[in-house]
Amino acid sequence: MRLKSFIDVPEDSHFPIQNLPYGVFTSPRNPEPHIGVAIGEFILDLYQLDKKQVFNGTHLRGKQVFLEPTLNAFMGLGKAAWSEARQQLQELLSADNPTLRDDIWLRDQVLIPMSEAQMHVPVHIGDYTDFYSSKYHAENVGTMFRGKENALMPNWLHLPVAYHGRASSVIISGTPVHRPQGQVLPADSNTPVFNPSRLMDYELEMGFFTGPGNALGDPIPVDQALDHIFGMVLVNDWSARDIQKWEYQPLGPFLAKNFATTISPWVVTLEALEPFRCPTQEQNPQPLPYLQLARNWSYDIRLEVSLQVENMAESFTITTSNFKYLYWNICQQLAHHTITGCNMRPGDLLASGTISGPEKESRGCLLEYTWRGTEPVELPNGKHRKFLQDGDTVIMTGWCQGDGFRVGFGECRGQLLPAKPVG
Ligand code: MN
Repeated sequence: MRLKSFIDVPEDSHFPIQNLPYGVFTSPRNPEPHIGVAIGEFILDLYQLDKKQVFNGTHLRGKQVFLEPTLNAFMGLGKAAWSEARQQLQELLSADNPTLRDDIWLRDQVLIPMSEAQMHVPVHIGDYTDFYSSKYHAENVGTMFRGKENALMPNWLHLPVAYHGRASSVIISGTPVHRPQGQVLPADSNTPVFNPSRLMDYELEMGFFTGPGNALGDPIPVDQALDHIFGMVLVNDWSARDIQKWEYQPLGPFLAKNFATTISPWVVTLEALEPFRCPTQEQNPQPLPYLQLARNWSYDIRLEVSLQVENMAESFTITTSNFKYLYWNICQQLAHHTITGCNMRPGDLLASGTISGPEKESRGCLLEYTWRGTEPVELPNGKHRKFLQDGDTVIMTGWCQGDGFRVGFGECRGQLLPAKPVG
């Protein structure tokens, strides 16, 4: 029989007992950041439970990782501890366990309505890396800029391409983003000008947080990578395309992407995603041995991007995609990143790159969806968009569909505000 909680959770909720994602929140009752787990419309306060020494299993006893204001210490404990916590929380929340169910006083203390809570970036992110792992996306963008023949760079099918991003500007869903200013090269000119970006875009991505990590000099083998991945979030890699175009050669994106990266607040564990593993496209040519998997696989996570613009009652869905469209697997990304001996620390963020699929509807950014602005998005209010305008809100969501329940990621949302004057 399917696991059920004593807390009522509708079928389309993202947070049933099968999920139990981790986040960090404050509330009027708890102005200090606490670690919590989402269940239906509530947050289970793990700080309060840890204070009562509820976590008394082999791997968590005495560790007090849930008294911390971030998830880093818990992430650093590794897979056995993550599993122990999940099992204990599922037990505590299950319909046939009276411990919390029948203790009205305790319930009031440890179950906080989500509507009263403010979510925060749940991890101290030491380092952030962004990959470029969707072949559909890389081919589309490559075709636009270099033509169909040279769409993929010669290295693309041999290694998961990435750049080192900026961790300090990773922000939580709901935080507004100001349009950045910078150097851009006007058409038919050799001299750049300085102005607010005119080609603002989003990128539909997902990211994973690393677990215990590796010592400097010791690569993480591809077949052990899953022991070093804690869980996943939705990511919007905001991009200023005109700034990017002028600056990106030869060292890749810099200011076009360093001003903001939005993540969803709930970290969904790999254990919750495990039932949604699926086979995915075969890799041809076969990668070098250090990147080889017995079989390429992914997670079946449905993804959506919608836009809410001025004078529109409801948001409008532009893109529907899926995490399984990625060519490079998360284990290959981690193995490649560390093959030089580069060390991962608990709470590093590795994002996927724009997740596009085979159809126009599954293109994960406006640059690609509108084919550089030549095919504008038609909105239901009669307006259209080539790129984002001030006041537009971008909303990303994603979930795995189970039999009668969803394991979801909630929302990754952000509004674009006008540029701030310099100085
Ligand atoms: Mn990106």
